Amino acid sequence: MIEIHAIPAFQDNYIWCLVNSGEQEAWAVDPGDAAPLENFLSSRALNLAGILITHHHPDHVGGLPQLLKQRDIPVYGPPQTVRKVTNPCVEGDSLSIWGQRFDVWEVPGHTLDHLAFVHLPPANSSGKALAHPLIFCGDTLFSAGCGRLFEGSPRQMLDSLKRISSLPGHTRIYCTHEYTLANLRFARAVLGDDYPPLEERISESESLRANGQKTLPVKLEAEQRYNPFLLCDGEHVKTSVKRHSQLDLENEYDVFTQLRRWKDGFA
Ligand SMILES: [Zn+2]
Repeated sequence: MIEIHAIPAFQDNYIWCLVNSGEQEAWAVDPGDAAPLENFLSSRALNLAGILITHHHPDHVGGLPQLLKQRDIPVYGPPQTVRKVTNPCVEGDSLSIWGQRFDVWEVPGHTLDHLAFVHLPPANSSGKALAHPLIFCGDTLFSAGCGRLFEGSPRQMLDSLKRISSLPGHTRIYCTHEYTLANLRFARAVLGDDYPPLEERISESESLRANGQKTLPVKLEAEQRYNPFLLCDGEHVKTSVKRHSQLDLENEYDVFTQLRRWKDGFA
């Protein structure tokens, strides 16, 4: 049986860890820090069998030197930008973890090297491990938000988000940061406080966090209802962003550009 665990790291990162209890093996996604992952592995007597990396930021790759000291395991990630990658991946590549296929997508925007790992289970897989579609999307799509644009253009980021949004509605979004509550506050500023899907997510997330639980993963179809960055082609977000920016906005790329700028300055 394969399970996915969230290992908290730093302030608000999750190191997602695929665990195959039958094999006593684990794969980690974006181990920014080695210590919490090592603790998790040793407490369950698991062997680390491989690593997936979405992009080069230190809070996603910082644990690699320590983790690879005593291990000779594959590290799948972006070519060139991450020195410890053993299996450089580009758009269209795929890899297999215990027979489960993951497709590699290039999703530039947050950084230019940003990758996502997408699992779409075959139609006959019901009841098996990883029966739901899922994506490890790093710092691209967050619950109620999206990553900052450090390297890519607004157009690249919106195209990446639109591509993620084209996945089946029940796809589970495994992003790296627990930014949900802060993002929801911004979403409320954009969508108003009379927006039922958003208010539902706010009360759900507040009670999860109050009980020390995570708000992730989240289903894509939920995000499509209240994440303003996935609603840039709609009148509601457009009107709100127009009012805030005092600019004429021609298309969804203009809306996204100003929405991202608004979020960057939002306290
Ligand atoms: Zn990042």
